[in-house]
Amino acid sequence: MTFARVMHRHGYPVAVFERDPARGARPPGGTLDLHEGLGQLALDKAGLLTPFRAMSRPEGQTMRILATDGTVLRDWRPRPGEPANPEIDRGDLRDLLLGPLDVQWGRGVTRVVPGARDGAVIHFADGRHETFDLVVGADGAWSRVRPAVSTVTPHYTGVTVVETSLDDVDTRHPDLARLVGDGSVAAYGVNRGLVAQRNSGGGVKVYAQFRAPLDGHTSGDLTDAEAVLSGLLARYDGWADALLDLLRRGTAFIRRPLYVLPVSHAWTHVPGVTLLGDAAHLMPPLGAGANLAMLDGAELAEALATGPEGTGPQDMAGAVRAFEEDMWARASRWAKITAAGLERLVSPDPAQALALFDQVQPA
Ligand SMILES: Cc1cc2nc3c(=O)[nH]c(=O)nc-3n(C[C@H](O)[C@H](O)[C@H](O)COP(=O)(O)OP(=O)(O)OC[C@H]3O[C@@H](n4cnc5c(N)ncnc54)[C@H](O)[C@@H]3O)c2cc1C
Repeated sequence: MTFARVMHRHGYPVAVFERDPARGARPPGGTLDLHEGLGQLALDKAGLLTPFRAMSRPEGQTMRILATDGTVLRDWRPRPGEPANPEIDRGDLRDLLLGPLDVQWGRGVTRVVPGARDGAVIHFADGRHETFDLVVGADGAWSRVRPAVSTVTPHYTGVTVVETSLDDVDTRHPDLARLVGDGSVAAYGVNRGLVAQRNSGGGVKVYAQFRAPLDGHTSGDLTDAEAVLSGLLARYDGWADALLDLLRRGTAFIRRPLYVLPVSHAWTHVPGVTLLGDAAHLMPPLGAGANLAMLDGAELAEALATGPEGTGPQDMAGAVRAFEEDMWARASRWAKITAAGLERLVSPDPAQALALFDQVQPA
């Protein structure tokens, strides 16, 4: 979306194909913090920083860490209006970026075939196909565009997240509203953690993250909520009731096994096709993935629209190649940081998680 929006700003048409049948076809997921030098920079390139600032929640950067018995270990509050990493709901961000874009909903891509000379052909699930000068695969972890440039597929990290939601916490669960505060609360035990984050409109997303074998499951809704809850309560046995209530009062459960691509995933340039975001560099969800996807999109669009040092869009292949080199270098740095971060957050030694927090958010 950021790629298309920046291209649109420079007057270039982009066809956006989305597999979802409509904008609201599925819940968009939890809140995202957009970093000043990443997601916010991308929004600036799209001319959307001012509306973002009006919609985002600087107070959402508040972070409290508890011991598993509920003792408060850290209680970090941002300065009023702190601009570094304000939070925004994914749905709000999507709507902000979509703006004037003409998305073709319900157009799932099955594969992309690079042309013999230039351009590439997209094949759709409905049996149709279309040819384009450049196909930008921004289709996430299980990208159908990726095989056109790379044979690599994501592998499981050993960590699974089960996500649940609480609605209208301030009136329905005031005790949990106080526990979560304006931002996030987290607790870490042996090889497991529990994180709850406030979203706008009184919503809270709760993430139980733990080491577990994959046992053949992929992402998706877990229909037997009672069985899931009792499995989770057994896993977090002995934790403070206030923390367990975050799970007990959840409304539905979604499983998200965490997969990653190799930290330095790159490919030999293929004319007419490129990747960005999770399709190019899927990494553990430690606050970088959406930010990187957005900056990738904004930078690629700028490179195509303005050419090297603003000389004009005369060399598409050269612009894409230069973009890929820059993206690989940045993504590889973040992939290493987030992989090491996941090892410390979901660790046999819970003190590692606290030490990581102290490193990134000193008092
Ligand atoms: C639990 C969790 C928490 C996270 N928290 C954060 C955070 O706080 N900060 C952060 O920066 N990142 C976070 N991330 C990571 C972030 O969600 C991803 O890195 C980001 O969404 C990647 O964006 P993307 O556009 O590359 O891919 P996606 O967001 O996956 O978007 C891909 C789009 O392509 C569509 N699509 C897929 N396949 C096809 C197809 N075949 N044809 C057509 N369309 C298709 C999908 O429907 C989707 O709309 C988190 C991830 C998880 C799982």
